[in-house]
Amino acid sequence: MDVILKDVSKTFVTKTFGAVTAVNNVNLTIKAGECFSFLGPSGCGKTTTLRLIAGFEDLSAGEIWLGEQPFSIKAKNFYLPPEKRGLGMVFQAFAVWPHLNVFENVAFPLRIMKKEKSEIIDRVKAALKHTNLSGLEEKYPSELSGGQQQRIALARAIVTNPRVLLLDEPLSNLDPKLREIMRFEIKDLQRKFNFTIIYVTHDQAEAMALSDRMLVMDMGVIQQIDTPYNMYNNPSNKFVYGFLGLSNFLPVNVDGGKVYPKGANGLDLDCPIPGDFTEKEAILASRPNEIELLAEGGFPARIKNRIFLSDYIEYRVDIGQTEIRIQCCEDQGFAAGDPCGVKFNRLKWYSAKDEISEAEREQRKVI
Ligand code: ATP
Repeated sequence: MDVILKDVSKTFVTKTFGAVTAVNNVNLTIKAGECFSFLGPSGCGKTTTLRLIAGFEDLSAGEIWLGEQPFSIKAKNFYLPPEKRGLGMVFQAFAVWPHLNVFENVAFPLRIMKKEKSEIIDRVKAALKHTNLSGLEEKYPSELSGGQQQRIALARAIVTNPRVLLLDEPLSNLDPKLREIMRFEIKDLQRKFNFTIIYVTHDQAEAMALSDRMLVMDMGVIQQIDTPYNMYNNPSNKFVYGFLGLSNFLPVNVDGGKVYPKGANGLDLDCPIPGDFTEKEAILASRPNEIELLAEGGFPARIKNRIFLSDYIEYRVDIGQTEIRIQCCEDQGFAAGDPCGVKFNRLKWYSAKDEISEAEREQRKVI
């Protein structure tokens, strides 16, 4: 069954800061069996959206459905409590209970549901097996590693056979190596049980590795919904471009069919202008590995810095008033201060107007 959000908004009213719209008119359908990630910077509204789906927050507007089953409908003041939504959850803040052993931690949701003793034993055993915790039933969380503790939380989330699993930064307190292992384990669990996963993270590599589709949010508004591949290769705006992977943004003036990087003495960057671009200013986006450094030809620039990063060499290069990063697999032999030529192999064009002001952003962070 699909998870459907229709015109969903959530505004928090605080005494000190007034109203903050954490989620702003979100429309979204997450397909049954899909692994779907919410990605975005701190404060963009990811967790609030997940909490609205879970039923921990009431909506300010809109509707949430699981297939034909309504979860929340603001206009009718309808609200299904979290325990009736049939969801599994691993929230960052929901640590395992230190005073309960592994078995009891995992059995907890079944005890709340007042299941038979024999069913509890069978289901907990199965959940522990699937999360590689068999044999640790009697241990207490403090006797286990971080990865094992995280698996307890996962086992507890799947023990009720949920249709949808909500995961909010479930791996954030693990070291990078363990995070990678756990990513695969989560994906494996999904394959076995075919539940829908809704995954909240601000780690783009994690979202890309896990997701069938994902969304990027900013200031409570969805910026793009797409597959990881499309999102990375065709970001719909500058914010999404900058959020995924490394990026360079070159501000330019556009005049008489020519493109002039700002502060570059009126030199023209020999590149085509997209047919539908009519503005006088633009931001040209490129990845550091999409730019070539040339000894001859190309746009005149100057090497500012050269950094050896084992797999590649990174050059910081000044183009007019803008510093850009270029990554080369082979050493081009340039040194700091050398003049050079720059060739952009791929450029995405964005309007210079669609920026959210830093002041607006800062105001949100305060809360
Ligand atoms: P993070 O990655 O830091 O967890 P997030 O993207 O999950 O961030 P949310 O936690 O959803 O962001 O918060 C979105 C906005 O709503 C923020 O400005 C936050 O301060 C505000 N907010 C969230 N919960 C509350 C609340 N209970 N009361 C008031 N404001 C809140």
